[in-house]
Amino acid sequence: MKPVLALVGRPNVGKSTLFNRLTGTRDAIVADYAGLTRDRHYGSGKQSGREFIVIDTGGFEPDAAAHDIYREMAKQTRQAIAEADVVIFVLDAREGLSVQDHDIANELRRLGKPCLLAANKAEGMKDSSRLAEFYELGFGDVHAVSSAHGQGVRALLELALDML
Ligand code: GDP
Ligand code: MG
Repeated sequence: MKPVLALVGRPNVGKSTLFNRLTGTRDAIVADYAGLTRDRHYGSGKQSGREFIVIDTGGFEPDAAAHDIYREMAKQTRQAIAEADVVIFVLDAREGLSVQDHDIANELRRLGKPCLLAANKAEGMKDSSRLAEFYELGFGDVHAVSSAHGQGVRALLELALDML
């Protein structure tokens, strides 16, 4: 069985962009607004001869009622965490920590999955103290990446695969 990596995080942090980087496809829909991807999305990738599966999350039916959207997103996140061997918890380095980030962190703790923190959109960020607040989540190191530019993505992937 190939190991499964799940990408979780609140809308618009760049999960689908990271998914495309990791899988080398543009299969997941990348939106300029939050949450266009309709479904949990699976892709496969290979790094240094190691194959893996990636799950993108965050899709919902666009016509669903607002409360259903949030319920659906939470359900997808839970399912993806449950299916994963390692979770990559994606954060927005420019926006910083949010209430939703704390909710996801609590879910990860409850399910007890190995987890890596990826602070995305970190290209050109000279001041790494902006990332300090993410340590509050209690998952250790924060890995600065730029999914859009590919920076730090390979190193993150190597770390994730080494956790297996
Ligand atoms: P998702 O909702 O978490 O799947 O986020 P998307 O992958 O759809 O990305 C949301 C927005 O953030 C899009 O406009 C992306 O182009 C942008 N984005 C994604 N990764 C990066 C990044 O590394 N740097 C910057 N500046 N923008 C990014
Ligand atoms: Mg997405």
